[in-house]
Amino acid sequence: MMQTPLTMTQMIERAEKYFPKKQVVSRTASGIQRFTYKQIAERTRRLADSLTKLGVTKSDRVGTLAWNHHRHLEAYFAIPCMGAVLHTVNIRLSPQHISYIINHAEDKVLLVDPDIVPLLESCAAELKTVKAYIIMTDEKDLPETTLSPVYHYEKLLAEANPDYHYLENLNENDPAGMCYTSATTGNPKGVVYSHRGIVLHSMALGLADSAALSEKDIALPVVPMFHANAWGMPFSAVWFGTSLVLPGPYFTPKLLAELIEQESVTVTAGVPTIWLGLLKELDEGSYDLSSLRGVLCGGSAAPKGMIKAFEQRHNIPFMHAYGMTETSPLVVISTLKSYQEELDYEERLELRAKQGTLVPGLEIKILGKDGEVAWDGKEMGELCIRGPWIASEYYKDERTQDAFHDGWLHTGDVVTIDDEGFVKIVDRTKDLIKSGGEWISSVDLENALMAHEAVFEAAVVAVPHEQWQERPVACVVLKEAYKGKTMKEELIEFLKPQFAKWWIPDDILFLDEIPKTSVGKFLKMKLRDQVQKEALRK
Ligand code: ADP
Repeated sequence: MMQTPLTMTQMIERAEKYFPKKQVVSRTASGIQRFTYKQIAERTRRLADSLTKLGVTKSDRVGTLAWNHHRHLEAYFAIPCMGAVLHTVNIRLSPQHISYIINHAEDKVLLVDPDIVPLLESCAAELKTVKAYIIMTDEKDLPETTLSPVYHYEKLLAEANPDYHYLENLNENDPAGMCYTSATTGNPKGVVYSHRGIVLHSMALGLADSAALSEKDIALPVVPMFHANAWGMPFSAVWFGTSLVLPGPYFTPKLLAELIEQESVTVTAGVPTIWLGLLKELDEGSYDLSSLRGVLCGGSAAPKGMIKAFEQRHNIPFMHAYGMTETSPLVVISTLKSYQEELDYEERLELRAKQGTLVPGLEIKILGKDGEVAWDGKEMGELCIRGPWIASEYYKDERTQDAFHDGWLHTGDVVTIDDEGFVKIVDRTKDLIKSGGEWISSVDLENALMAHEAVFEAAVVAVPHEQWQERPVACVVLKEAYKGKTMKEELIEFLKPQFAKWWIPDDILFLDEIPKTSVGKFLKMKLRDQVQKEALRK
């Protein structure tokens, strides 16, 4: 067979050649803007030319601090296709971590959204390698800034060569992108994506039994483009000619609901926190979201009650999936086998609330205390993954050996696998509650609590216990209508028939909100501290 390289250049060139009329809809400070792939492709070449003129060459890192919009999409292709490395900086990290990752990646140029300029200014003095800042805006929205030297995105593009040629001898194993995981302890860890990894992962998103992304879709990635490449959706969408809708910095449930309705979005992707917010909006407002064929949900466990509410109250189908920054991210996705479609709704829901079965192209094994666990849906072990879109190390980081050894990525996620190959995430190793030598899954308890009509959000953490080593305590945010009501006994009674006696939380605390990470996941570490302090006080 031929050895043609799997590089990203073919993706953007295909969009221009085969789908020049298809659209990218982008919400910016100037309102909704519309571009065709023909325009995006030309602007992408212009951006690559501009970066070349600023001195960016092969393997240089170029950082972006930006929301989901067309300019960020252009950077997604211009930077890798010119041979440089797209470093999407997670702007929800602390300024210290932002400086750390920009210095660690040695970014040469930074592209930044106008509203993120103040954040960048606050860490600019720490930045050691940055030679130029480009503000991603129209001329009229250009903010005053102390960043220097500073360039204006649209002005650079206007002066650039529209016939720029991308780097010709790109190797498929060359680095194309990088992303740092939002570590809860220590500095963030960098993951480098190769062209080959991105191309193969993009193909996986299009498989019929995976997310089935296709030209016929109108895709709205709600996952930020600075988090695991918006789960790779923008790459696949461009390659497949899928229309893209990019919400800018506007992630509020109301604006998302309006955008989905106005643009007839067919598929969207995001973390459960976003969907819980949207569900509330849909329950209260009046929208027609019947265009949606699927909501891809991952990043943390999708509560069964939430999936059911979307499907039964609003006729919006869910696709639950699992992955991590280190895995590009898609690993397993919960699509049913043909014969499982005949099960009744509750049985199907039970399966679909698991994270799902392995996407073709990857391998997994689940390591328990004594080797690989049985496929019985009960025995727990750590999920290990390998494959062409799985990272093989952390970028220049000693912590590589903790997660990468024996040719596998050891995820730190504790899972079970059933006889049909459906993986269920039980917990992060560090979040499991170890009570009397046995494990309690915080995720299972949270999901059960979130299925109660009074509960908006629930997180369960361990508190130290003299006799049992650790015991679970639940933290609950009640829905508005239930705030101030005494719900503890009712919730405990609600859990009792669903779990073994020793799983039932020792206490339920009612909070106004649950602390979250930069990407909207429960910040268990902080919550644990909060709860343990509370327990000591009692
Ligand atoms: P970060 O570490 O920056 O939060 P990731 O997005 O890479 O970023 O997080 C990956 C982790 O998220 C996984 O290791 C797993 O613990 C959790 N996760 C991802 N998807 C799911 C899911 N569908 N259900 C439960 N946990 C999930």
